Amino acid sequence: MENCIFCKIAKGEIPSATLYEDEEFRVILDLGPANKGHALILPKAHYANIYELPDETAAHAMVLAKKIVTKMKDILKCDGYNIVQNNGEAAGQTVFHFHMHLIPRTAGDQAGITWTPGTLTSEDRDEILEKFLME
Ligand code: 5GP
Ligand code: ZN
Repeated sequence: MENCIFCKIAKGEIPSATLYEDEEFRVILDLGPANKGHALILPKAHYANIYELPDETAAHAMVLAKKIVTKMKDILKCDGYNIVQNNGEAAGQTVFHFHMHLIPRTAGDQAGITWTPGTLTSEDRDEILEKFLME
């Protein structure tokens, strides 16, 4: 992907604050952090989103997320962690190269990763179960 900024960062063609690197991934600090220590896991190969991601890479990414947040939690002494992964513009994705956000949280911070809970209606429940389980 010639014009993909995360391809360039992941491959080291553009410098970044790198926390971790191996053959498959680079983990960098986000330039627009939701909180201090906000990091991104980038696969070095280009996949636009989770739908394109090979199972093996998905599995490795989650294991790596666990390692990074476990270490970072001790360093930052934060109270919690959000692992966020956006797919599609409607979901807030702005860079179309798969990435996972690792966002440290402290009690009462303003990171604001939240939603207003609705109600699961019986119509929605039945419709979704029927359609999903039919496939
Ligand atoms: P998305 O909205 O696609 O889930 O997340 C994109 C993230 O990438 C944002 O949090 C944004 O701050 C971060 N970002 C965008 N461009 C760069 C960059 O050039 N370097 C780094 N380190 N982060 C970036
Ligand atoms: Zn890319």
